[in-house]
Amino acid sequence: MIPYGKQDINQADIDSVVDVLKSSFLTQGPQVPAFEEALKEATGANYALATNSATSALHIACLALGLGEGDSLWTTPITFVASANCGLYCGAEVSFVDIDPDTYNLCPRALTKKLEIAKVENKLPKVVVAVHLCGQPCDMKAIHELSVKYGFKVIEDASHAIGGRYLESPIGACEFSDITVFSFHPVKIVTTAEGGAALTNNKDLSDKMALYRSHGITRDESLMENESHGGWYYEQIDLGYNYRMTELQAALGVSQMTRLKEFVEARHRLASRYNELLSSLPVVLPYQLPNTYSGLHLYVIRLKLDQISKSHKEVFEALRESGIGVNLHYIPIHLQPYYQKMGFAKGDYPNAETYYDEAISIPMFHGMTSEQQNEVVKVLRECIL
Ligand SMILES: *Cc1c(COP(=O)(O)O)cnc(C)c1O
Repeated sequence: MIPYGKQDINQADIDSVVDVLKSSFLTQGPQVPAFEEALKEATGANYALATNSATSALHIACLALGLGEGDSLWTTPITFVASANCGLYCGAEVSFVDIDPDTYNLCPRALTKKLEIAKVENKLPKVVVAVHLCGQPCDMKAIHELSVKYGFKVIEDASHAIGGRYLESPIGACEFSDITVFSFHPVKIVTTAEGGAALTNNKDLSDKMALYRSHGITRDESLMENESHGGWYYEQIDLGYNYRMTELQAALGVSQMTRLKEFVEARHRLASRYNELLSSLPVVLPYQLPNTYSGLHLYVIRLKLDQISKSHKEVFEALRESGIGVNLHYIPIHLQPYYQKMGFAKGDYPNAETYYDEAISIPMFHGMTSEQQNEVVKVLRECIL
C-alpha cells in the first residue's frame, strides 16, 4: 500500500533522540526550549510553547483567550474534529462557517454574513479558528478585518501549514491572528511522534498558556498570592493540565526543523508533478490562493462525477483495493453523530457537503518516488475512466 502520508526519519533524527535517552532529562530539560526557539526562528513569532499535541495546544489557546461558558467558537466544518472540540472543552458553544468552494477553507463571505446575523441576535463568537486546510493559508487579512470590526479573537489551526507563507510572512508569525497552532503528528509536515505548539506575539497569552500547559502551577514569585515558603515552593493559581512535550519529542523536533524547507520544497515538487500528470483526467486539481505559499500537507483532488461512470465511494474503494492508500480529509464535523446530537443537520453547510461527496486525498509524502507517483496516477486513471 502506498500510504497517503508518512514521516521521514533520518540518522540525525535518531541520534538526537538517543542522545536524550542517555542524558539527565527525559522531560523538562533543555530540548523543549530549543525546539521552541527553532519554531520562533522559523516563523518570527515572539513566543512558542511546545505541547504534547495540537489538540492540547488548541485547548490552552482557547483558555488563554478566555473562552468559557456562554461564549461561542466558530470554525470550518472541513477540518479535523479537534479544531472544534477545543471550544467544547471550555464549555463554549461551537458553530461552523461554510467553506469557499475553490480553496476549501472557511469562506470570508459566509463569515461576514453569519457575523451580521449574529450581531443582530447578540450572539457574536468570542473565537474563530481559521484552519489552513492542506497547508493553503486562509484569507487571513479578511478574517482579521472582521475580527477587528466584530471583536472576536482568531486562532490559526496551522496543523497542515508549517513552512508555508501568507503574503510576506511565514505561517506562525501571527500577523493576522492572536495564536497559531501546529501539529507534529507523524503524518504532518514535521513530526515529534505526538506533539504540537502554540505561538503568539502576546506575552500575556504566552504566560497564560504556559500555566495551563502545566497544572496552573507557577514558580514565579511575582504571580504568587502568598510569600514563598522556601526553595521548594510553587503555587497553583489556576486549573491547568499536563500538556507538556517530552525531551525525546522535542529533540526529534529540533532535528526535523533543520529540514523544514527541504520538506516543503519536496512536497511542492510532488504537487507540481501531480498537477501535470492529472491534468487530462476528470478531476478538480488543488487551487492555490495568489500571494501564498502552501505547506502542502495534503494533495486533494475532487472527482467530476458527471464525467465519471463510477460513484465517489466506488472510486475510493477501487483505489484502496489496488494498493493506493487514499484518504478523505475530512468528514464535515457537523455530520458527526456527536455534533448532530447538538442540533446540526445535513444541509447546514452545503459547500462542505458537496466537497465531501467528491474529495479524495491522494498519497503525498517526503521520500515518495516518481515510480510511486506514476503508480498512483495509473491506478487512478484505471479507476475513473
Ligand atoms: C492533526 C490535526 C489536529 C490535531 O493534531 P494532534 O497533534 O493530533 O492533536 C488538529 N487540527 C488539524 C487541522 C489537524 O490536521
